[in-house]
Amino acid sequence: MRRSTVLLGLVLCTCIAALVAHRTAADDIAERARKLHFSSIVIDTHDDTTQRFFSKDYDLGKRNPTGHVDIPRMQEGGMNGIFFSIWIDGKIMGPPAVEKALDQMDAVHENVKKNSNAMVFARTAEEVRRAHAQGKIAALMGVEGGHMIGNDIRMVRIFADLGVRYMTLSHFYNTEWSDSSTDKPAHNGLTDFGKDVVREMNRQGIMVDISHVSDKTFYDALEISKAPLIASHSSCRALCNHVRDMSDDMIKALAAKGGVIQINYEKSFIDQTYKDAYDKETGGVVAHFAELTKDCNNDEDCISKKMAALEEKLTAEGKLPHVGWERIIDHIDHAVKLVGADHVGLGSDFDGADMPEGMEDCSKLPKITEALLRKGYSEADIRKILGENTLRVMEQAERVSKELQAQ
Ligand SMILES: [Zn+2]
Repeated sequence: MRRSTVLLGLVLCTCIAALVAHRTAADDIAERARKLHFSSIVIDTHDDTTQRFFSKDYDLGKRNPTGHVDIPRMQEGGMNGIFFSIWIDGKIMGPPAVEKALDQMDAVHENVKKNSNAMVFARTAEEVRRAHAQGKIAALMGVEGGHMIGNDIRMVRIFADLGVRYMTLSHFYNTEWSDSSTDKPAHNGLTDFGKDVVREMNRQGIMVDISHVSDKTFYDALEISKAPLIASHSSCRALCNHVRDMSDDMIKALAAKGGVIQINYEKSFIDQTYKDAYDKETGGVVAHFAELTKDCNNDEDCISKKMAALEEKLTAEGKLPHVGWERIIDHIDHAVKLVGADHVGLGSDFDGADMPEGMEDCSKLPKITEALLRKGYSEADIRKILGENTLRVMEQAERVSKELQAQ
C-alpha cells in the first residue's frame, strides 16, 4: 500500500515536471517570437489602404472598426514598412488614368504628413532603416498597373520623382503594352514599348512587379530587367491553382535572378477548395470585380466593402469553406523549400482582399513569426522573410539605377 502510494507520487511528479517543461518551452518560443518580430523590419509590399483615404469614415491615424490597416493596428502588429498601393481600374487609360494616379499619390503624401509623429515617407532602403531606428513606420508607394502611365514613358520618371518604388506591369486587364494573367493574351507578353518601360523603370530605380501579369509577360520582364523582380502580392500555384499565383518554375526563375515572391493572403489565392467554391458562386474574381466596379462607380472603398459583405454572407450560408491563416504559412514554407528563405516575403493584399480566419488585420502579423519559429526556421531567415529581402531588392534596384544613369 505504502509502496504503491510512493510510486503514484513519483509518476505524478514526473508528469507535472514534464508538463511544466513543455509549457516553459512553449512560452520560450512565444517570447522569442515576440522579441524577434518587434525588433525586425516588417515590410508589407502590397496594401490597398490608399483608396480608403478618400472615404469620410476612415482615419489612418486612428483605429478603424473596419478594414485591415491603420497606424494603431500597424503598431500592434509590428508592421513598420508599408507599400501603399496606387490603384485605379484597368479599364481607365490615357490622361484620366494619370490624373487619378496622381490624386492617390498626393493622398499618400498628405496622409503621411498628417501622421508624421508615427510615419515617415521613404524612398530608399536606407530611409526605411532610418525610419525603423527612429521608431517610425516607413511609408512607400507602388503603382498597381502600368495603365496609369497613360502610355507615356515620361510618367515613369515623374512617378519615380514622386517616390514610387515599384510598378505592377498590368492589373486585371491587358495594358496596351503588357498582357495580364486574367485577360486574353493580346501582345504575347511585352510589346517593344513595354520592354522600354521596363528599361526606364530600371533607370529610375522603380522595382518591376510581376504580380497580375501573364506568364509570358513575366518571362519577358525577367529577360529585360537588369534588376531583380518582385511579385508584390502573389502566392504559390502548386498549392492553389490560380493564374494570379506563380508556378514553381516561375518562382525558381524569379529567385535565380535575385527576386522575391511576396506571399498574398487572399483566400482564393491560398486555398484550392475556397477558390473552386468562390468561382462557382461568383463567376470568378475578375468577373465579380468588374460587376462591383460598375455598381460602385470605380470607388474601391465601396468595392472592397461589397466584396467583404458578400464573402461573409456566402460563408455564413455554408457556400464558401472556412480558411485558416495557417495556409499563409504553407505558402511561405512551400516557396522557402523551393528556392530558399532569401526569395520569400510578405505582400498581404490587406484592404484589397478577403483575409483568412485568424489574420483579420495587420495586428495579427506576429503570428507569422511565431509559426515560422515553431517550424524551426532560424531567426536570420525569419528576418529576411519579414522585410530584409525586400530591402535587399530595393538596394539592388537603387544600384542598377545609379549605374544606368551614369552611362
Ligand atoms: Zn492586386
